[in-house]
Amino acid sequence: MSSKVKSDILMLAKISNIIMELSKVDSLNTSYKALSDIVKDMVEIEEEYFFIKNSENYEEIFERNFSDELSELVRWSYSKTDISIFPEDEGSYIIIPIAQATNVNFVYAIFTKEQNFSNRFMMILRTTSFLMGNLFETLKLYEEILDKNILIEKNKNFLDNILNSTFDSVAVYNENLIIQFMNNNFRNVTNNEKFRKIIDGYVISSIAEKQNKSFEYEYEDKSYSFDLINIIFEKEYYVLVNIRDISGTKELEKMKKIEKMKNEFLSTMSHELRTPLSSIKAYSETLISSLEMIDKEMLEEFLTTIHNESEHLEALLNNLLDYSKLETHTLTIDRTKTDMIELMNSVIKALNDSIESKSIEVSVELEEDSIILDIDKTRIKQVLLNLIQNAVKYHDESKDKKVIKILIRTTLKECIIKIEDNGLGIAEEHLDKIFEKFYRADSSLTYNVQGTGIGLAIVKELVDLHGGSINVESVLGEGSTFTLTLPKEMV
Ligand code: ADP
Repeated sequence: MSSKVKSDILMLAKISNIIMELSKVDSLNTSYKALSDIVKDMVEIEEEYFFIKNSENYEEIFERNFSDELSELVRWSYSKTDISIFPEDEGSYIIIPIAQATNVNFVYAIFTKEQNFSNRFMMILRTTSFLMGNLFETLKLYEEILDKNILIEKNKNFLDNILNSTFDSVAVYNENLIIQFMNNNFRNVTNNEKFRKIIDGYVISSIAEKQNKSFEYEYEDKSYSFDLINIIFEKEYYVLVNIRDISGTKELEKMKKIEKMKNEFLSTMSHELRTPLSSIKAYSETLISSLEMIDKEMLEEFLTTIHNESEHLEALLNNLLDYSKLETHTLTIDRTKTDMIELMNSVIKALNDSIESKSIEVSVELEEDSIILDIDKTRIKQVLLNLIQNAVKYHDESKDKKVIKILIRTTLKECIIKIEDNGLGIAEEHLDKIFEKFYRADSSLTYNVQGTGIGLAIVKELVDLHGGSINVESVLGEGSTFTLTLPKEMV
């Protein structure tokens, strides 16, 4: 093997070693040490410096001190982008710009005692500088990408943080119903499979109709506001879902409404109390002032009016008393064996005048002649009175034939009483609320009828105390059916 070939092989081996060394470099910082190690392997180094250009000045990366002379040499070779050797008395400076094309990344400067350098040494140094320049550039790009990734991750965390600090549950669905993003609240809320299905259902219809949706939804004693917003991003279709728990606000609204209804109740009550009271006062005053002139017939008429009005007053006061008992949960019942049929007949009789004055036809359908129940007679009478009075009160003036059908039947354990009217009826949204105190179905027609909204609340409480139940079915404009179920035996 010729010495030229031998030398070429040795050089190739050296370069491949350098490539191996450089391939281990994984950051800009370790690249300086790798370069230093490679050069130290070829020449003895007395001093070494790594310069970077900062505007017009040269800074040593590791803050080593350097002479003005060296600074000048660096400045000169920076523009040259090639390796330069400057002989000195005691040795030489070798200045190696690490560049990619004409872009110098940094300058490696060494001082060695050597003064003569072989072509092979220069070639290997040039190759090292070239490889290092490329490597440095790649590492720079790599670190930039890493920085960008960190920035993207930071931005993502920032957005996550913001969306997790809202009280709302937020998610973004794509057209295939796949969630692209959700915050923690949404994750928690949709842990409930059933609720998740409900949300998905609304998203499906929002996608199908390509329409935004905003509505309120009640689920398991809680009220939510739903907003489904359609988004088109880079030609792709998404639905942003925002769910807010508004139970607190609803509760507040409800309390305010109750407060308002309570005030209305008190003012109606005081008005209602004043009417019979004034009439009792007026009749009794007339009686006192003209006692001598009044004959027996007139006296009877006056006293009957006073009696009727005082009964009305008593009923109103009882109602007030019941209301306060309802508030303090102190309503009680006193059971005796009572015939339900007899009780019903007495109620219808008591209401006869108002039934007739409104030309309402009342029919009673019975399966048995007598049904004995263990109930509080006065209280159940009050319940029946209230229900039939309501059926009369909320009759529909526009109907030619006004009817109230009463049906009483029994099962093995229960007595079922249905009171059906063809009156004004109740809109569906009010149905589950009419048993709440002060609640009056908000319709212009029913509002014309005097009432306090307390009757059905007392009715419900009394029925509950008997271990029974009360339900209503109604269609606005068609009529209502109240079904009262009482246990035959005491529970
Ligand atoms: P009030 O009759 O004093 O308003 P209630 O508690 O007895 O109070 O009834 C509550 C509400 O239920 C009424 O205001 C009315 O809107 C509705 N309601 C009750 N019974 C009937 C009925 N038979 N037909 C239509 N609406 C009814």
